[in-house]
Amino acid sequence: MRINITTLPGDGIGPEVTAQAVTVLRSVAEVFGHTLEITEQNIGGAGLVASQDPLPPDTIHSCLASGAVLLGAVGGPAFDHYPANLRPETGLLRLRNELGVFANLRPAICLPGLESLSPLRPDLVRGTDVMIVRELLGGLYFGKRSTEGPLGSRRAFDTMAYSEPEIERIARVGLEVAKGRRKKLLSVDKANVLDSSRLWREVVTRVGKEFPDVELSHMYVDSAAMALVSRPNRFDVMVTENMFGDILSDQAGAVVGSLGLLPSASIGGKVGLYEPIHGSAPDIAGQDVANPLGAILSGAMLLRHSFQLEAEAAAVESAVREVLSAGHRTRDLAEKGDSPVNTHKMGHLVAAQVERTRTATI
Ligand code: NAD
Repeated sequence: MRINITTLPGDGIGPEVTAQAVTVLRSVAEVFGHTLEITEQNIGGAGLVASQDPLPPDTIHSCLASGAVLLGAVGGPAFDHYPANLRPETGLLRLRNELGVFANLRPAICLPGLESLSPLRPDLVRGTDVMIVRELLGGLYFGKRSTEGPLGSRRAFDTMAYSEPEIERIARVGLEVAKGRRKKLLSVDKANVLDSSRLWREVVTRVGKEFPDVELSHMYVDSAAMALVSRPNRFDVMVTENMFGDILSDQAGAVVGSLGLLPSASIGGKVGLYEPIHGSAPDIAGQDVANPLGAILSGAMLLRHSFQLEAEAAAVESAVREVLSAGHRTRDLAEKGDSPVNTHKMGHLVAAQVERTRTATI
């Protein structure tokens, strides 16, 4: 198969972690007999430096002509003084819109042996494997908003609005994802208070009837937030609107406690966008100490969701588990007495493990 992707390394540690994800994708392509074609483009601060644009036209064209996009991270103190419409982050927001990606998939997994990274007790977090499916292009972040009135008595509002088609399409993604896992979907809303949530619940329930093999349940967002901390390993797939998903997915990330390890996928539009959840980490950029596993696992999601290469995605995920269970740790995961591996080394260890696992199964 032809795996044609655009990489957008971006800023800070973005280029360092993206390079390692590419190393692993090259190894997957070689081992499984695929052709990997990569076009690298600028985004964020790198776009501003090269052409005064955080999302240059060449980048948009290249992304739209690719089978998938792999992004590192954008932003950093060098760009903090730029006007709001020229901040690196606007490049990313515009890209999501250009690609039309309305479904954000954020897995939060507590890998065996890494329970101590969590702020929770190991017995509470052990076995946690949650997939949050967040609506990305609607709701409060995109509704009508305004600040009105004279200074001293101003009034501001934001609107949470959802249409039936918007709810239907994200419900379908949630149900499909659940179908590929343990066949359970939890829809999270605030239907006891909000009209938009009542419509959400009604539509998700209706679409759920098209998936008789998936067990659908509902929970209010406040209860879900409590349960995510008190019994995170009971959750499987959760579907929710934009702001609830923003908050719950960060919470789930904090529960498993390893920012550098967590990938994400934004799908449902013209081309899928894959990126680690962390930012550009300017405090450690250029030191070859960043953890590339979030980027590498984003590469696995890219293989699965944009190219339907399930065996290849699973090979990357199991290689990451093997490398970690062999005791290799980047600095952020290292405990007292460990001697951490650098960013490059971690990428090469995972790539070599992909080759080893595959050879062993032939
Ligand atoms: P951050 O995620 O960059 O860093 C938070 C902390 O986690 C830092 O101490 C950093 O060193 C550490 N960290 C992050 N990723 C790591 C990794 N892979 N390995 C080891 N340690 C890691 O968040 P921040 O400091 O709030 O933001 C820095 C910049 O990144 C800002 O400009 C922000 O706007 C931007 N940002 C971009 C994205 C994105 O590109 N999607 C997301 C979040 C933040």
